[in-house]
Amino acid sequence: MLDDGKPAPRPVVMPWEYVTMRRTAACMTIEQAARPYWHRPEHQADVERTIGALEIVGFRMKRDFFVADMSRAYSFNVDVYRQLCDTPPDQHPRLCLACGWDQWSTQYDTNGEEATWAQSDPDLCTRCEQLDRKKVIG
Ligand SMILES: [Zn+2]
Repeated sequence: MLDDGKPAPRPVVMPWEYVTMRRTAACMTIEQAARPYWHRPEHQADVERTIGALEIVGFRMKRDFFVADMSRAYSFNVDVYRQLCDTPPDQHPRLCLACGWDQWSTQYDTNGEEATWAQSDPDLCTRCEQLDRKKVIG
Protein backbone atom coordinates (compact mmCIF):
# COMPACT_ATOMS: atom_id res chain seq x y z
CA MET A 1 0.00 0.00 0.00
CA LEU A 2 1.26 3.49 -0.79
CA ASP A 3 2.12 5.75 2.10
CA ASP A 4 -0.33 8.63 2.08
CA GLY A 5 1.47 10.39 4.90
CA LYS A 6 -1.21 9.72 7.48
CA PRO A 7 -0.29 7.73 10.57
CA ALA A 8 -1.65 4.18 10.51
CA PRO A 9 -4.93 3.95 12.42
CA ARG A 10 -4.52 2.53 15.91
CA PRO A 11 -5.98 -0.92 16.49
CA VAL A 12 -9.40 -0.78 18.12
CA VAL A 13 -9.65 -2.31 21.59
CA MET A 14 -13.15 -3.57 22.33
CA PRO A 15 -14.61 -3.55 25.87
CA TRP A 16 -14.44 -7.34 26.27
CA GLU A 17 -10.81 -7.32 25.13
CA TYR A 18 -9.99 -4.63 27.69
CA VAL A 19 -11.48 -6.73 30.51
CA THR A 20 -9.55 -9.82 29.41
CA MET A 21 -6.27 -7.91 29.04
CA ARG A 22 -6.52 -6.37 32.51
CA ARG A 23 -7.43 -9.71 34.14
CA THR A 24 -4.71 -11.70 32.40
CA ALA A 25 -2.12 -8.97 33.11
CA ALA A 26 -2.99 -9.54 36.79
CA CYS A 27 -2.50 -13.31 36.25
CA MET A 28 -6.00 -14.06 37.54
CA THR A 29 -8.64 -16.56 36.52
CA ILE A 30 -12.27 -15.48 36.25
CA GLU A 31 -12.93 -17.42 39.47
CA GLN A 32 -10.19 -15.48 41.27
CA ALA A 33 -11.42 -12.17 39.85
CA ALA A 34 -14.97 -12.96 41.02
CA ARG A 35 -13.96 -13.82 44.58
CA PRO A 36 -14.17 -10.27 46.08
CA TYR A 37 -17.74 -9.94 44.75
CA TRP A 38 -19.53 -12.82 46.47
CA HIS A 39 -19.90 -13.54 50.17
CA ARG A 40 -22.31 -16.46 50.30
CA PRO A 41 -21.39 -19.71 48.54
CA GLU A 42 -24.80 -19.82 46.85
CA HIS A 43 -23.91 -16.59 45.00
CA GLN A 44 -20.56 -17.80 43.69
CA ALA A 45 -21.77 -19.31 40.41
CA ASP A 46 -23.95 -16.28 39.58
CA VAL A 47 -21.16 -13.82 40.22
CA GLU A 48 -18.65 -15.86 38.21
CA ARG A 49 -21.12 -16.05 35.31
CA THR A 50 -21.72 -12.27 35.39
CA ILE A 51 -18.02 -11.48 35.52
CA GLY A 52 -17.26 -14.05 32.83
CA ALA A 53 -19.87 -12.37 30.61
CA LEU A 54 -17.77 -9.19 30.57
CA GLU A 55 -15.28 -11.08 28.39
CA ILE A 56 -17.74 -12.53 25.86
CA VAL A 57 -17.13 -11.12 22.38
CA GLY A 58 -19.74 -8.50 21.58
CA PHE A 59 -20.81 -8.02 25.20
CA ARG A 60 -21.19 -4.46 26.49
CA MET A 61 -22.40 -4.00 30.03
CA LYS A 62 -25.37 -1.64 30.06
CA ARG A 63 -24.76 1.45 32.14
CA ASP A 64 -27.89 1.08 34.26
CA PHE A 65 -27.71 -2.69 34.74
CA PHE A 66 -24.62 -3.14 36.82
CA VAL A 67 -21.58 -1.02 37.41
CA ALA A 68 -18.87 -3.07 35.73
CA ASP A 69 -16.13 -2.19 38.14
CA MET A 70 -13.54 -4.92 38.40
CA SER A 71 -11.17 -2.74 40.40
CA ARG A 72 -11.74 -4.70 43.62
CA ALA A 73 -10.11 -7.69 41.91
CA TYR A 74 -7.44 -6.12 39.66
CA SER A 75 -6.32 -2.84 38.14
CA PHE A 76 -9.31 -1.71 36.11
CA ASN A 77 -10.39 1.76 34.97
CA VAL A 78 -14.19 2.01 34.88
CA ASP A 79 -14.06 5.24 32.87
CA VAL A 80 -11.97 3.52 30.19
CA TYR A 81 -14.43 0.61 30.10
CA ARG A 82 -17.40 2.99 29.67
CA GLN A 83 -15.61 4.88 26.90
CA LEU A 84 -14.90 1.64 25.04
CA CYS A 85 -18.59 0.70 25.37
CA ASP A 86 -20.18 4.04 24.62
CA THR A 87 -17.98 5.96 22.18
CA PRO A 88 -16.87 5.37 18.58
CA PRO A 89 -13.36 3.90 18.14
CA ASP A 90 -11.82 7.25 17.17
CA GLN A 91 -12.69 8.50 20.67
CA HIS A 92 -11.28 5.50 22.50
CA PRO A 93 -8.44 6.19 24.91
CA ARG A 94 -4.94 5.02 24.03
CA LEU A 95 -4.22 1.68 25.74
CA CYS A 96 -1.25 -0.64 25.99
CA LEU A 97 -2.09 -3.34 23.46
CA ALA A 98 -0.60 -6.07 25.65
CA CYS A 99 -2.05 -5.32 29.09
CA GLY A 100 -4.72 -2.63 28.58
CA TRP A 101 -2.96 -0.06 30.78
CA ASP A 102 -4.06 3.54 30.30
CA GLN A 103 -1.97 6.59 31.16
CA TRP A 104 -4.46 7.77 33.82
CA SER A 105 -3.95 4.59 35.88
CA THR A 106 -0.93 4.04 38.08
CA GLN A 107 1.00 0.91 37.22
CA TYR A 108 4.57 0.15 38.15
CA ASP A 109 7.16 -1.27 35.81
CA THR A 110 9.63 -3.97 36.83
CA ASN A 111 12.01 -1.33 38.20
CA GLY A 112 9.33 0.08 40.50
CA GLU A 113 8.97 3.22 38.38
CA GLU A 114 5.58 4.45 37.20
CA ALA A 115 4.80 2.91 33.81
CA THR A 116 4.69 5.13 30.77
CA TRP A 117 4.65 4.57 27.01
CA ALA A 118 7.51 2.42 25.75
CA GLN A 119 10.15 4.07 23.58
CA SER A 120 10.60 0.99 21.39
CA ASP A 121 6.89 0.55 20.64
CA PRO A 122 4.28 3.27 21.28
CA ASP A 123 1.58 0.58 21.53
CA LEU A 124 3.15 -0.87 24.69
CA CYS A 125 3.69 0.36 28.23
CA THR A 126 7.15 0.21 29.75
CA ARG A 127 6.12 -2.69 32.03
CA CYS A 128 5.12 -4.85 29.04
CA GLU A 129 8.25 -3.76 27.17
CA GLN A 130 10.39 -4.92 30.11
CA LEU A 131 8.47 -8.20 30.45
CA ASP A 132 8.68 -8.69 26.67
CA ARG A 133 4.90 -9.09 26.53
CA LYS A 134 3.46 -9.22 23.05
CA LYS A 135 0.54 -7.21 21.79
CA VAL A 136 -2.71 -9.16 21.91
CA ILE A 137 -4.57 -6.59 19.78
CA GLY A 138 -3.68 -5.27 16.36
ZN1 LIG B 1 1.27 -2.95 29.14
